[in-house]
Amino acid sequence: MTWEERWHPLREEWVIVAAHRQDRPWSGGTVVHGEEALPDYVDDCYLCPGNTRVSGKVNPQYTQTFVFDNDHPSVSQNAPLDLPKPSGIYRNRPARGIARVVCYSPKHNLTLGELEPAEIENLLRVWQEQYLDLGSRPEIAHVLIFENKGEAVGVSNPHPHCQIYANNFVFKTIETEARVSRRHLAETGRVLFQDIIAAEKQDERRIIAENDSVIAFLPYFARYAYEVFVAPKQTHPSIATLSDAEVRDFADVLKKVLVKFDNLWQMPFPYVMPLHQAPTDGGDYGAFHFHIEFHPPLRKPNLLKYLAGPEIGGGNFLSDTSPQEKAAELRAQPAVHYKHRSAPEEEK
Ligand SMILES: [Zn+2]
Ligand SMILES: [Zn+2]
Repeated sequence: MTWEERWHPLREEWVIVAAHRQDRPWSGGTVVHGEEALPDYVDDCYLCPGNTRVSGKVNPQYTQTFVFDNDHPSVSQNAPLDLPKPSGIYRNRPARGIARVVCYSPKHNLTLGELEPAEIENLLRVWQEQYLDLGSRPEIAHVLIFENKGEAVGVSNPHPHCQIYANNFVFKTIETEARVSRRHLAETGRVLFQDIIAAEKQDERRIIAENDSVIAFLPYFARYAYEVFVAPKQTHPSIATLSDAEVRDFADVLKKVLVKFDNLWQMPFPYVMPLHQAPTDGGDYGAFHFHIEFHPPLRKPNLLKYLAGPEIGGGNFLSDTSPQEKAAELRAQPAVHYKHRSAPEEEK
């Protein structure tokens, strides 16, 4: 087993090499095919309460959330320290870190958007605790919390859960956001993300949901058709400092966005959802504004946005949809989850 980081000198970023992961046994990969009604417990799901995971560990009979160390981590506290030295200018180092899994609910067949607001609030508090717990460790430079949802992003198990990578380096996107935020503050005296929110509020057409302290919008500069950002209106470098009222408001807006996503095609809506939070390496991140980003890979129910020449080859996105039209589609979605609507309303 190797947990190694290799420096990419042309991109100036670390590549994580976890060579043992290719053959990780994904037992319990119960495949969901759109419409099929799923049971709320599946006996071969490695995330359901009471089940045994591939590591041999048994899940407790949890009733809300359940956090555990990933059985097949891509970073580890046990990363071997004596790596073979690479040749020439090449650099490597052990991929030290902690990888965890957070189950959102004991119920196998729910999506995040179907949880009650109080359950989403509880999850936000778990994210606060995890950021503080992992981020306070001296060897951890950054805590990346993210959910991969749906077969379109390679997740076959629908059991609602997210992952946490607490790493010894700062991920590239976060590093960029931190750098430009710091520069913007120095140049203008303002927080960059506050200026983004102000521009979205001025235009109004791409705002998906909003309450007193939290806003969700499909940004002017969206790279994906249904890309949505969710952020507190006050600047917090991480989720950890949100007040109780802000946590409540955040759960409210998050749920509204997720219900609209699921309603769009009346299916569990696939996405990659990272929390963008300030690094925990002791740097100056006062200008960093915590937010959640949704990167949905689908343009239509069966049409994937393929990353190809411009994106993979060049590194910039080519978007062939209009953000305000896609925002209008989401804004038009009803506020009640399609699974919870009464039968006559289903006629369409
Ligand atoms: Zn399950
Ligand atoms: Zn971001």
